[in-house]
Amino acid sequence: MKRLLGLAILFVSACRGGSQPLSNWTAELAPCRQSGELLKHGHMEIGLWTKVSNDSLAAEIRRAMDFWANVLDMRWQERHDSQTCSIQVVDGSPGLFRNNLIAARSQFADRRSFHGWIAFNPKCPLTVVDAYLTAIHEIGHMLGLQHSPNPKSVMYFLDPESPPTLDEKDLALLRARHKLRQRGADLAAFAARDRQPSQSTVEPLTSGTSR
Ligand SMILES: [Zn+2]
Repeated sequence: MKRLLGLAILFVSACRGGSQPLSNWTAELAPCRQSGELLKHGHMEIGLWTKVSNDSLAAEIRRAMDFWANVLDMRWQERHDSQTCSIQVVDGSPGLFRNNLIAARSQFADRRSFHGWIAFNPKCPLTVVDAYLTAIHEIGHMLGLQHSPNPKSVMYFLDPESPPTLDEKDLALLRARHKLRQRGADLAAFAARDRQPSQSTVEPLTSGTSR
């Protein structure tokens, strides 16, 4: 429970920092020229430019993209430049995070200065499972999801011992903005089946620090 509480605080903190109305956070990064793809109601072709220095984190970000590609009518590909990327994931500079418990910050597609950026905090240690769930959560914001009051939703409270799930409200919000895969009510169940984290997959992305 202590671990669960810690993770909940992690996300609440992460997102409170980016919740100011109207405008997104900014950084010295090149805007993703294809970030508008995230606003499409039909099929989306998402270019992912992963620039984080931690290879394990990068792998979990790709897995998170696979998660969303199974929920929404979208396809994603690796990109390596600002002209073709829709999402750019970077190691955030210290000034973006109020403290080292903040795991990541995403921009919101419906706010000003949206450039498709997600910043992970290199000083916030994450297990592989935490990284996977954090990436799903942050990409979810980019796709239009807000925080959920449902503790079972990946958009609110994340249980590292359970797979990521989307609740009906999440799916309704997604359905209003995007084209979902043709599995209707099965989507939530699908999301729940997506991945069963096991202890064997939990390895620290950074060493020497624990929550
Ligand atoms: Zn959030």
